[in-house]
Amino acid sequence: MKNFFAATILFATLLLTGCSSSVERTEIFMGTVVTLKANGLNAQAAVDESFHAIAELEQNISADVAKIESTDEFVDVSPDVYKILQTAQIFSEMTGGAFDVTCGAAVDLWAVGTDKPRVPTSDELAAVKSFVGRERLHLRGGQVHVDRGVKLNLGGVGKGYGVDVVRKIFASHGIDDGLIDFGTSTIFAVGRKRIGVKNPRKPDEISTIVELENSALSTSGDYEKFFVANGRRYSHIIDPKTCAPVEGENFSVTVVVDGSCELCATVADILSTAAVVNRKRVEEILSQQKIPAKFVDGDF
Ligand code: ADP
Ligand code: MG
Repeated sequence: MKNFFAATILFATLLLTGCSSSVERTEIFMGTVVTLKANGLNAQAAVDESFHAIAELEQNISADVAKIESTDEFVDVSPDVYKILQTAQIFSEMTGGAFDVTCGAAVDLWAVGTDKPRVPTSDELAAVKSFVGRERLHLRGGQVHVDRGVKLNLGGVGKGYGVDVVRKIFASHGIDDGLIDFGTSTIFAVGRKRIGVKNPRKPDEISTIVELENSALSTSGDYEKFFVANGRRYSHIIDPKTCAPVEGENFSVTVVVDGSCELCATVADILSTAAVVNRKRVEEILSQQKIPAKFVDGDF
């Protein structure tokens, strides 16, 4: 009898420890290094399902953007892309256009972050302005349309949305301890985690440690993608009003958004990009609206 109990306990222990695991996997998606860490009974399934979903999201984004730009008609898009564009438009309105996914033609013109960045002529700059502006992007009942020549760029929001997709999958598998990391620029801490924020002038160094608990963190700045011409440092973030890259002192912005906000990582991603363009405006929004977000100021 005693042996029977011992065997039962041993079997139960093996069963439990056999299923509970700690999984970490890294893959390249959306042009960045995505690392997912999960601890718990369904960690493997949660991570596998998440990478599947990220691959699908990335595919949907590029296919839908190409489809939208290829025709003068409204076209059906995937629910994820529609949600991204809806959220982008809401925040474009709120930020007075500091965040604007229609900035694609200007992003392409300057080509910051490619091997051929350049300062365009004033004529080119004037011409590109007629293809940028949120009023040129139209959404209705799951369908999307852009005015002719408008190029969408989801580089400032797609990764945040990807983090939110993974967050939901982790939750559906009961994961309460883990980390969702899209290239260290957009992160969600499942449970409590300490996250290092890079020093923008010395990206290999950590300047601040942030305690995150079930919240998203996003950093935007000019330290990863930029180029220097005629002594001026041009960031990959465009001011949609001038269609030129942001220059000046706001070279790095970190925003934390609490997980109680449904699309917290999407919002963090958008707000950090927007704040590089117009930090004052974003500060006003945070003081007026009920968005559980705050800036983290590094010791730079
Ligand atoms: P990262 O992608 O390096 O994490 P961000 O989230 O700040 O940085 O996104 C910057 C990217 O967003 C740019 O590389 C460009 O593709 C796009 N972008 C640039 N300016 C804007 C803007 N004003 N509004 C929306 N997207 C922008
Ligand atoms: Mg962003």
